[in-house]
Amino acid sequence: MRIITLANQKGGVGKTTTAINLATALAAIGERVLIVDLDPQGNASTGLGIDKEERTLSSYDVLADKIPLSEVAIQTVVPNLWIVPSTMDLLGVEMEIAALPDRTTRLKSALGDAQDLFSYVLVDCPPSLNLLTINAMAAADSVLVPLQCEFFALEGLSQLLRTVEMVRQTINPQLIIQGIVLTMYDGRNNLANQVVDDVRAHMGDKVYETVIPRNVRISEAPSHGKPAILYDLKCSGSQAYLQLATEVIRRERRLKAA
Ligand code: ADP
Ligand code: MG
Repeated sequence: MRIITLANQKGGVGKTTTAINLATALAAIGERVLIVDLDPQGNASTGLGIDKEERTLSSYDVLADKIPLSEVAIQTVVPNLWIVPSTMDLLGVEMEIAALPDRTTRLKSALGDAQDLFSYVLVDCPPSLNLLTINAMAAADSVLVPLQCEFFALEGLSQLLRTVEMVRQTINPQLIIQGIVLTMYDGRNNLANQVVDDVRAHMGDKVYETVIPRNVRISEAPSHGKPAILYDLKCSGSQAYLQLATEVIRRERRLKAA
């Protein structure tokens, strides 16, 4: 089982969209994939068509009460893809577990008990470097960072990388950066091209070759409760996510072998 955490403390950079579409691409090639929705907003859950009423058990119950993932994970509209949904209850969980000695490793323990059920787990983080994101990093083999192609793309990245380093030094020595994916790229915009060049200059081969274009079909898909890849496979955004999936798999195989 490979665990990939999608993190960036900025909101609206494409974490959830990337989690949903990468997971769908992996599921489509026969991997058994689990998304863990760790954002109280629950966008990954909604985007995969999970109604609020269906969320009787959620990531809150996993973290607060140690309910096993096997009881909480729900099958989605995508074959081979399950989700641990989230609810607003998550907003309170930090306070509830803050004083517990295992506060940073509760997700790790839960996933450890689900080793045989899934081949890939993608953890969709909230837009914050809080205890939820720390739990996600503590549990992960690698971190995938979506960066929006906008002027302030690199701002905040060093703080994120410092957090990864802190987790590596304290809780999870094997943690590495899977890669950085540039999202919402608009080729007509000169600034976007400059951002791509800047990020590649700073981060080198950590940056995936695939760049996700800004694409209206991608933004429409969640309101239909489907991944873009199911909603419109041919659109440029879906095609880019399929390409990203091949890069992620290539890197995971290399990391696993190392
Ligand atoms: P995050 O999880 O980081 O907050 P989201 O994945 O929810 O970000 O994306 C923020 C918004 O941008 C959503 O409304 C989403 O549908 C939209 N979006 C994400 N990626 C694209 C894209 N490539 N093209 C167009 N809209 C996008
Ligand atoms: Mg999100």
